[in-house]
Amino acid sequence: MMGEVHSHLEENIRPYIDLIDTLRSVGIQKDLALPTIVVIGDQSSGKSSVLEALSGVALPRGKGIVTRCPLELRLKKVTGVNWKAVLTYCKKKTDLWIQHQLHKISKTASQNELAGKGVGISDDLITLEVMSPDVCDLTLIDLPGIARVPLKGQPEDIGEQIKRLIIKFIEKQETINLVVVPCNIDIATTEALKMAQEVDPEGKRTVAILTKPDLIDKGTEKSVLAIVHNEVIPLCKGYTMVKCRGQQQIDDDISLEQATQIERDFFQNHDYFRCLLKEDKATIKCLAIKLTQELVDHIKKSLPHLDEQIKKHLWDKRNELKECEGGPPQDPKGAKQFLTQTLKRFSDQITSLSSGELILEENLFAQLRAEFKEWNDQLSRSKTSFSDSKAVSQENRGRELPGFSNYKVFETVLQKHVAKLNKPANDLLRGMKDIILEHLLDVVNHCFRNYSVLKNITVSKINNILSGQQEKAEQRISEQFKMENLIYTQDPIFLKILSEIGNEQFSKKQLPMFDKKLQRMADQLPMMISLFMLKETAEVLSTDILGLLDGANVSELLFEDSDVSKRRKDLRDHLDRLTGSVD
Ligand code: GDP
Ligand code: MG
Repeated sequence: MMGEVHSHLEENIRPYIDLIDTLRSVGIQKDLALPTIVVIGDQSSGKSSVLEALSGVALPRGKGIVTRCPLELRLKKVTGVNWKAVLTYCKKKTDLWIQHQLHKISKTASQNELAGKGVGISDDLITLEVMSPDVCDLTLIDLPGIARVPLKGQPEDIGEQIKRLIIKFIEKQETINLVVVPCNIDIATTEALKMAQEVDPEGKRTVAILTKPDLIDKGTEKSVLAIVHNEVIPLCKGYTMVKCRGQQQIDDDISLEQATQIERDFFQNHDYFRCLLKEDKATIKCLAIKLTQELVDHIKKSLPHLDEQIKKHLWDKRNELKECEGGPPQDPKGAKQFLTQTLKRFSDQITSLSSGELILEENLFAQLRAEFKEWNDQLSRSKTSFSDSKAVSQENRGRELPGFSNYKVFETVLQKHVAKLNKPANDLLRGMKDIILEHLLDVVNHCFRNYSVLKNITVSKINNILSGQQEKAEQRISEQFKMENLIYTQDPIFLKILSEIGNEQFSKKQLPMFDKKLQRMADQLPMMISLFMLKETAEVLSTDILGLLDGANVSELLFEDSDVSKRRKDLRDHLDRLTGSVD
């Protein structure tokens, strides 16, 4: 049957499928997503039946959740073999790949190994590669069906688990979502269609399939036709109706070829659905042609993006390789020179990090700014709580009548509020320290990746310097708070404030004073901490590191980790894959 489908592949679409095949054969899908077709649907909607009809491969089917792991079905047209399938799956949490040569598909065995015996599901992908002269080149992924109610022994959140797994696949722009919906239920309520609409609201990459037309309720034919005619839930790519083998036909050993004939007869003899044949909206064969075309269109559309991604990857990996390829020279003079260059480079990078010119993983100053903002927000909140707290001035009021409060009370109230900012100020310091530390370590990893001795020495230097600087900053913060305890602003400034608020009552006069303090601290603390924790740290570190050159044991400092050569090899392989894909 697929041979027939295959013959419909025109010359101008083959190269695209071949291209993706080639990319896949060099293993590029390890690095980026390739265009694929993913099959989703509610439990028992007929997903596996559709796949099996498309592929000519008998898959496990039945009631309940039969597909418990994602199954990647790679159909490859290969001449010169009868029919061959290879099942590949990754053992849970290990990188060990096991290959099974299969004469008969025993997917359940591997599923049990991956998802555990019973009824759970797993994220690990099983790959079934089918090579045959009678299939067309398509890659389809069969996902577990969406379960509504957990079966006995299934985790309570099985529905959520499955949905998460499905979303992971269907949200990728590179996939075409094949949504399988039985005709004999209300399609508007199907979870699968809803999910597809969520990730693809315009329906640009959603193809719907209506199954089980033979089980339709008498009298609902017209409304089902309206759906196929895109009148109910319109989808750009529309609907196709297929009839697969029912349980009885499987029990009766009806072959897939016979099923194709039965399907054709079914539509030809159907009073309502006959018209769909002419409209190319029915049968598996029609679906296969449509899918191939869709996949090719999709590949065409994805190509510029793919090309871009591959080039970017290539560039990144070449840079990484350059770094670990240029190992230290063996002769003492050359090695010393290399060490000097390496340390100098580190020192330069630390300096540019502190001035905001170096961005490795993340933007240091953007992260610091977020901390500054948080600090400022804290200050604003304390202002609100200050002006809300009439109670505070009541607490501190002595025997005087209202409006006769004295200066002492005024001072105490302000001091209490200022003191509350001590903790947030130290939080700010710690937050900034953590961010700065992370960025310094990024530079260490970037410059000394292969040299663990050098790395360890530098990391311990950084820790020492930072904790010394932190002590200094803590000291300065505590002084700042002591200073703010002395309630002071220049007379003309306070008089100006007073004249602005007029003859207001006492508590209103406190606010502008408090405000003044907040404004001062809003700027001063970030500036001060940046000075101590970033600028000074960077200065000390970059000089310190160059100091390593004095009387250095060069070969010890440049000791290379044993896994470097492995990394070098991995990177070379990776590069070969990418280069292979660009050619
Ligand atoms: P999945 O859980 O979505 O993979 O659903 P299956 O493919 O396992 O199908 C569930 C049941 O529906 C099986 O017993 C199939 O034989 C049956 N089935 C699938 N498609 C059709 C169809 O077009 N007509 C009939 N009568 N039964 C079908
Ligand atoms: Mg299934």
